Amino acid sequence: MSFPPPASFFDLTRDELRLEVVRWGFSPVHAARLWTYVYLDGARSLAAMPELPERFRNRVAQELCFEPLTIVSEAHSTDGFTRKYLLGLADGRRIETVLMRFTGRVTACVSSQVGCAMGCAFCATGQMGFVRQLTPGEIVGQAMHIDRVLRAAGPRAALAQPLSNSPHERHERLRNIVLMGMGEPLHNYEAVMTAVNILRDPGGLALGAKKITISTVGVVPGIIRLADEARPSHLAVSLHAATQEERAALVPVAKQWPLDALMDACRYYARKLDRRIFFEWALIAGQNDSPEQAQAVARLLRGLPAQVNLIPLNPTDGYDGGPAGHTTARHFQEILAEHGLPSTVRQRRGIDIAAGCGQLASAK
Ligand code: SAH
Ligand code: SF4
Repeated sequence: MSFPPPASFFDLTRDELRLEVVRWGFSPVHAARLWTYVYLDGARSLAAMPELPERFRNRVAQELCFEPLTIVSEAHSTDGFTRKYLLGLADGRRIETVLMRFTGRVTACVSSQVGCAMGCAFCATGQMGFVRQLTPGEIVGQAMHIDRVLRAAGPRAALAQPLSNSPHERHERLRNIVLMGMGEPLHNYEAVMTAVNILRDPGGLALGAKKITISTVGVVPGIIRLADEARPSHLAVSLHAATQEERAALVPVAKQWPLDALMDACRYYARKLDRRIFFEWALIAGQNDSPEQAQAVARLLRGLPAQVNLIPLNPTDGYDGGPAGHTTARHFQEILAEHGLPSTVRQRRGIDIAAGCGQLASAK
């Protein structure tokens, strides 16, 4: 007789865990303690939870597993600020998770799918095609992986210093999560929202509402749903072009959800939630980096509470384009500023370890 494999602990919200524990005939107090052991104390196995009754631990061991992701490989950037992990799932599939440091804050870039169905021309994940959805536990598991890396590193390193491995009394906390790894988060809406709930739990990783950013290629119904449900996270929209024709050439789903509809959805979101929206723009040399295109995006976003994140393209094998140069990027940014549109030029961190979306998982 075979038993079903244990479910992942990380799939469960705090409420779901409590209901399960009560269903097994134990006190909800045990569920709360189990949650604290895992998310606050960083316990990795039931052996590290001696205060829980043995009968309860035995039942948990039958029902739940705590180790969903394995490290297949990792790469550290030469500047020490970026670590990229290729993580293995229970079915042998692989996803990428990146730990980044900006001005002393630790950010995890996590994946929402294996592959992606959206097919953006310049994106290594898009070039891979869609494989499957991630479960909430596989999304939370990536954040927990980063949490464990930080715990193992130990010290609260001085601001803007690379991660050090020397022992110290406290470990750094994971402060920000961006859903900008592999996949389209709004094409896996339910699982992503459950994961966000778990990540925000105040008795767990306790990420602030404004510390989680969902990046979308422009799935219009998903943006409207985020607004209607008043979901507590930031929204980033991958724009890349300011006319329908130019955008459709880079982002095929623009044919399904045209630019006009996308901008209407963004205005609806910003008004309803009174929130600023980030717009991502991969700067591709000779493609979308001209002064005229900068003027066009400024006109397009007029009246919206917006910030543009300019990211010089990470070259990929399946796409001919190259990154816009530093001067071009600065000039683009100046034009946006002249129109009162704030922007940043994202440093191409980890370029030496192929830290662009999907680049490690698709490497041969
Ligand atoms: N699917 C979502 C989130 C994952 S992609 C989305 O498209 O927004 C995260 C960001 O990386 C997006 O803005 C995407 O356009 C960008 N991106 C993908 N491939 C890139 C590349 N080769 N160079 C620069 N940015 C890239
Ligand atoms: Fe998918 Fe985003 Fe890559 Fe487009 S850029 S293929 S939506 S992961």
